Amino acid sequence: MKIAMIGTGYVGLVSGVCLSDFGHEVVCVDKDESKLALLRDGKTPIFEPGLDVLMAKNMGAGRLSFTNNLKDAIAGADAIFIAVGTPSRRGDGHADLSFVFGAVEEVATNMSDYAVIVTKSTVPVGTNRKVAELVEKTRPGLKFDVVSNPEFLREGAAIEDFMRPDRVVVGVQSDRAAEVMADIYRPLSLRDFPIVTTDLETAEMIKYAANAFLATKVTFINEIAALCERTGADVKSVAEGMGLDNRIGRKFLHAGPGYGGSCFPKDTKALARIGQDHAAPLQIVEAVIKINEEVKRTMIDKIIDLCDGTVRDKKIAVLGLTFKPETDDMRDAPSLTIVPALIGQGAKVHVVDPEAYREASTMLPGVTWCDDAYAATAGADAVVLLTEWNQFRALDLTAMAKSMATPRMADLRNIYSAAHAQDAGFEAYIAVGRPSFP
Ligand code: NAD
Repeated sequence: MKIAMIGTGYVGLVSGVCLSDFGHEVVCVDKDESKLALLRDGKTPIFEPGLDVLMAKNMGAGRLSFTNNLKDAIAGADAIFIAVGTPSRRGDGHADLSFVFGAVEEVATNMSDYAVIVTKSTVPVGTNRKVAELVEKTRPGLKFDVVSNPEFLREGAAIEDFMRPDRVVVGVQSDRAAEVMADIYRPLSLRDFPIVTTDLETAEMIKYAANAFLATKVTFINEIAALCERTGADVKSVAEGMGLDNRIGRKFLHAGPGYGGSCFPKDTKALARIGQDHAAPLQIVEAVIKINEEVKRTMIDKIIDLCDGTVRDKKIAVLGLTFKPETDDMRDAPSLTIVPALIGQGAKVHVVDPEAYREASTMLPGVTWCDDAYAATAGADAVVLLTEWNQFRALDLTAMAKSMATPRMADLRNIYSAAHAQDAGFEAYIAVGRPSFP
């Protein structure tokens, strides 16, 4: 199959690389020349484990290329994937579809033969019908089909998720389009990965419902964590005891500083707006959005409490800034709420993160960047563990405590325990929904 992939972000690039690894001929298109320069050079503009190796393999095999010329890229393509961003629209929380419609208009203007236009971006219910209308309006009489094929990959495990998905969702409106999609995903269906084939609206809804459900699960355990702190229960054991029930499952039951990232915050907001627009308000999702904001704010209060009520002129070391480990993505990371609030309260914040610098250096003015956790914590009044990168999971807490001015830890990912911190010489330790001291 010949495939054009419009957008080489986290989703477009991973999808393009993996589809070329299936044996398809893939041309990836982007408007961002700086990204294209890196890509043509065989370098990935994002940090995603394993992506550089797979990209080099398929570029070397002549199946994968990069261009800014959309017309050339879509010439003769069987399928044209749209994988551009759908951020929150400023002010109202709706998904901003201007990148999607912009790309579709360009595709329609330059298409010559029948092709399937596949929306991989996360878009509100009804968008694919609007995509079809836009193509018809731009090029009356053109033969095409529209397909909704939302993506479920997780940053940090994106290749594994694309190559071994729990399911692939395909929303179609014609047999011809269904056949094209079946050909594209045959390497997965042959290995028995489920392909859910449905209509356009259902496919669009599956994506939002899935993300909102996961955000709800995270928020639920965060609320239980707050209650654990008041009652003396340990949320880690509560989550384990709950999660071992197969009906519940253990994933997404980790209490922490609130969900962030490029998807959950914007997708929950967009789904809430879709519900309001259709007079079917999603009250659970609306509560989740509100509670998640409160959870992030609560973390700031916890850190200030740990520092005896004020962080003014205190040195706070923050370990981890990205919204989760194994990615350089800073979009809506809890650190973007917590770190500026600490600086606003007069703290001197020293940060360390293995991948965040490129994006976060401009987003977090006023912090001091350190090379490792020990440099960040030397002489500090408190350490805040914010992202559970592997390098922060096995710290020498004894050495750390010795080098700090006042050894206090806010473990916002529940990596250590009160007993461990106490044995290492810490004076104070707080976690999320777990025992703390003094
Ligand atoms: P991104 O912002 O990383 O990348 C989008 C890319 O599209 C950019 O490189 C941009 O330059 C390019 N672009 C925009 N308009 C273009 C045009 N007209 N022609 C060519 N290139 C254009 O976005 P992302 O994180 O990859 O997300 C893309 C979509 O996938 C979103 O709808 C998102 O919700 C969804 N999604 C993201 C993830 C994730 O983990 N990031 C997971 C599942 C789904």
